Amino acid sequence: MPNMSLKKVAMPEQAPDVRNKNFQEVALGYTAEMAIEEAQRCLGCKNMPCVAGCPVGVRIPEFITQCAAGEFEQAYQTIKSTNALPAVCGRVCPQETQCEALCVRGKKGEPVAIGSLERFVADWYMANTVEKCVRPASNGRKVAIIGAGPAGLSCAGALARLGYAVTIFEAFHLAGGVLVYGIPEFRLPKAIVRKEIDSLREMGVKVENNMLIGKVLSVDELFASGFEAVFIGAGAGLPSFMDIEGETLLGIYSANEYLTRINLMRAYDDAYDTPLLRHRRAAVVGGGNVAMDAARCAKRLGAEDVYIVYRRSLTELPARAEEVHHAKEEGVIFKLLNNPVRILGNDKRMVTGIECVEMGLGEPDASGRRRPVVIEGSNFELAVDAVIMAIGTSPNPLLSRTTNGLDVNKRGCIVADEETMQTSRAGVYAGGDAVTGAATVILAMGAGKTAAASIDRYLQGMI
Ligand code: FAD
Repeated sequence: MPNMSLKKVAMPEQAPDVRNKNFQEVALGYTAEMAIEEAQRCLGCKNMPCVAGCPVGVRIPEFITQCAAGEFEQAYQTIKSTNALPAVCGRVCPQETQCEALCVRGKKGEPVAIGSLERFVADWYMANTVEKCVRPASNGRKVAIIGAGPAGLSCAGALARLGYAVTIFEAFHLAGGVLVYGIPEFRLPKAIVRKEIDSLREMGVKVENNMLIGKVLSVDELFASGFEAVFIGAGAGLPSFMDIEGETLLGIYSANEYLTRINLMRAYDDAYDTPLLRHRRAAVVGGGNVAMDAARCAKRLGAEDVYIVYRRSLTELPARAEEVHHAKEEGVIFKLLNNPVRILGNDKRMVTGIECVEMGLGEPDASGRRRPVVIEGSNFELAVDAVIMAIGTSPNPLLSRTTNGLDVNKRGCIVADEETMQTSRAGVYAGGDAVTGAATVILAMGAGKTAAASIDRYLQGMI
């Protein structure tokens, strides 16, 4: 008999006024008893609508049934058969617009907490088993991967399992992409990412850090040094700015720079020398996960007032619902239907404020969301000493400029076939944010896996 509670089993969390002063993980995870109780809410629908909502097709009812029976190791193997990073996805996937959006229990009450169960199973497995890594027999063929984010890591794992000698070239001194430089420790502990990368290394994958391809080596040089195929998973790390007056004042950051200093270079940790001014009042412009992460970091670094300035309403806010909820609980102030028009500074060129206008919502635009419209004469000033721009990113043009025959679209994204991830250049495949523009971890992983299958077919002479 299923558990017919209309509500999810709540996950224990650090209290908001405690956690907004530290970088430890906010959500503490289910106990085994909680996981079993929540898993018992699943009806095990025959047509499995939730699976259709998962970009990598995790066999959700199957793993939840195993979880309900306390068979956690089997549940882990079920998830892992289609998802290489369950501990990551359980924490950061936008479940409310994917699997959980289609859960039948969500029609009357809350959907089954699929993400929380995935996280529990993955954490249980890490805590209770010692993975025996079987290094696959080598087929002697070399593939290069550019970028150690979710796309590159999943491509590397899939190719290594097929026996390829894989080398990942990563520009930063640490592998993980956005998982280590963007998403903060309080949402995704870095030890989890490290563990996943260690298991790739155990399978024989080499990771070469501090290797900015396009500068240190070109794609042509990779081919010349014996790599037979190249996968580009270089992400979309080039920040956009608003091009408004005052945007070069001191105290203006791109969210990527701000988060990289804090997460990758640990500016919050006194044991590290990374410089970062401590601000009293910060405005974060944007409404996605990046904006929520930047705002919550600013709060943790001691800012008294932190504003999210977003030009649309709560309905259009693209961030994960959980991040918005957590940010509000932690005291972040939401200035919705507001848009900056000018940044104000003093004679030392330091930011002193931000001038905004109020917005209304018009007809839906090409994105399907209602178009923001300026309310004339509604200008007002907000006193802040930092402005963090989180209004989007695009792929860095370095690789497309230095690689002959690699086509990009007008947004600067690498053009790749949706089915095979093949680019316009023979032997070069691409996936993740470098192709789609800023998207999600699970989509980047799916693209990496698809590209690995195509690279295998290409090197076997099948395409
Ligand atoms: P990335 O993760 O960006 O990795 C690309 C890697 O390539 C980087 O390590 C980079 O240093 C390296 N690189 C770039 N150029 C070169 C080069 N020339 N040579 C060598 N290496 C290079 N998604 C979610 O699903 N849920 C979330 O909650 C979420 N939160 C986010 C929060 C933040 C702050 C950010 C920035 C993004 C977030 N996303 C989230 C989006 C998600 O992280 C990305 O869609 C995903 O990481 C893309 O993976 P990727 O492998 O394509 O690129």
